[in-house]
Amino acid sequence: MKILVLVKEVPDAAVEKTITADGRIDRSGEKALNPYDTHALEAAVQIKEAGNDVSEIVAVTVGPDSASRTLQGAVSRGADRSIHLSDEGLAGSDVIATGYALAELVKRESPELVLLGQQSDDGGSYAVGSVVGEFLGQPALSQVVKLDLAGDTITAERQAEYGYDTVEVKLPAVISVGDAINEPRYPSLKAIMGAKKKPVEKLSLSDAGIDAGKVGSAGSGVECKDFTKPEVKSGGTVITDEDTAATVEQIVAWLDERKLV
Ligand SMILES: Cc1cc2nc3c(=O)[nH]c(=O)nc-3n(C[C@H](O)[C@H](O)[C@H](O)COP(=O)(O)OP(=O)(O)OC[C@H]3O[C@@H](n4cnc5c(N)ncnc54)[C@H](O)[C@@H]3O)c2cc1C
Repeated sequence: MKILVLVKEVPDAAVEKTITADGRIDRSGEKALNPYDTHALEAAVQIKEAGNDVSEIVAVTVGPDSASRTLQGAVSRGADRSIHLSDEGLAGSDVIATGYALAELVKRESPELVLLGQQSDDGGSYAVGSVVGEFLGQPALSQVVKLDLAGDTITAERQAEYGYDTVEVKLPAVISVGDAINEPRYPSLKAIMGAKKKPVEKLSLSDAGIDAGKVGSAGSGVECKDFTKPEVKSGGTVITDEDTAATVEQIVAWLDERKLV
């Protein structure tokens, strides 16, 4: 059984998120492997370690040249090889266009299982898994926090607002894992060094047989009109508790003023 893990390069969590003049997320600063995707990689490794017949784990990304480093990170966390779709024509792709490109890469590899994170740390649409599943015509599950594999069937627990759903799907399937599914291990120094030597298969749109008209700004239905920065929060009111009765009075007055009591 082959497992494909979709991983994304995102701006590092410490970098302040800004929007460029043409309305895109500024991705010029330090970057990192999307933290949510480390749970998908860990889930793939755990399926292999559980004794299932996993022939290989392949990490796949769609992103600019710099995303190769993210793939190295994925290999250091247990992927056997990686695929990087990078092409100028992808700039401006929305979720559907990105999902279409990812689905085409999945078709080339025909894995039994596609795993991905619940959300990206930048776009945060929580949608790519469902879009990829739709393009592939395969079952897609989101927010999976437990999965058991038996033959060609996966029994999964999905975290829902009201509790948990237990569902069963036949492979091939696309499963987006919640961050409660596992505690990802840190890669060892040896694995980090070893990952640098593993080849990354770099593909352009034409290499991958992807229709350039269905990706990029032209192939995307979403048009971003305007962005405004969130209002800068004021420092708030600090009440120093010197006289508790007076402090309580001040707090109640503050709440009353805002009609909160
Ligand atoms: C109008 C518009 C223009 C955009 N322009 C650009 C651009 O020029 N450059 C750019 O980089 N982004 C661009 N984006 C953002 C990018 O297309 C989105 O990140 C993408 O659609 C995925 O959405 P998301 O990040 O919200 O994914 P989510 O649905 O939140 O991600 C869920 C999971 O899907 C997987 N995943 C998501 N994206 C990828 C990926 N690219 N490769 C592999 N796995 C992935 C990961 O496992 C992730 O955990 C644009 C978006 C819009 C709407």
